[in-house]
Amino acid sequence: MNMRTLRRRPLRSGFTLIELLVVIAIVSMLLSIMMPGLKGAKEAGKQIACLSNIRQLTMGWTSYNADNEERLCAPHTRRSESIVSPNPVEDAKHRWVKEEFPFDVFDENKVVIRSGVLYSYVNDPGPYKCDADRFKRFRSYAMAHGMGAKVILDDLNPVTRFTKIKNTSSKIVFADAEAGIEQFQVSKSFCPVSFRDGWWQRLSYRCFISARHRKGSNFSFADGHVEDWKWKDRRTVDLALGIIEATEAPFISVNNEDLARMFKALRVD
Ligand SMILES: [Zn+2]
Repeated sequence: MNMRTLRRRPLRSGFTLIELLVVIAIVSMLLSIMMPGLKGAKEAGKQIACLSNIRQLTMGWTSYNADNEERLCAPHTRRSESIVSPNPVEDAKHRWVKEEFPFDVFDENKVVIRSGVLYSYVNDPGPYKCDADRFKRFRSYAMAHGMGAKVILDDLNPVTRFTKIKNTSSKIVFADAEAGIEQFQVSKSFCPVSFRDGWWQRLSYRCFISARHRKGSNFSFADGHVEDWKWKDRRTVDLALGIIEATEAPFISVNNEDLARMFKALRVD
């Protein structure tokens, strides 16, 4: 090979089209392998953050009880719910959050949260909202009706003092709840079942179970611990997501193990 031949041969630089296509195909394949893992990690992160939120709220709730001679704060959210209680004025004062209307989206200053009795203990609106809650609202959590309400709801007898709760480790205080309607608050106290009839019950304007964490939901308990529940019955998930209509709730309650678990966790007496 002489110098003339060397000069004529073009110097190779960059990729050929075939090489470029191969690189793109490999990168695409790697991304398709990694994406579910990344998505799963992101969802797991949101669930952990949510568990941290309800843990903070429950610590606040515990402190409130201790500061008020074991008297539980009121789990309902609206003043109108206090009217049926024996002492409506006093009961309304002790609501954990204080909303008067269901349209939370207009509460830009988060007055509902800031005016509640728990705000002295959790004085940041952030932990009141779940990151995985796709609806535009400021609050995602609801408090179990049996924890401090003054009225019997569907044969559910609430307790009003911490010392009256039996088996604190198995009784729900906060639920990562769902209203199911854009811009609506997760209103009232948490009671997604009918104790009288023995079935799931989804009433309008009342919060319900959610399934926003990998087909499950998060709960806190009266002893302060938190749990992530995976719904075991596919019908429960569909009901939580609104795929099954509320009117069909009684019909999917037969042999529903999620429902049986919920009954046990909500009954406090
Ligand atoms: Zn959540």
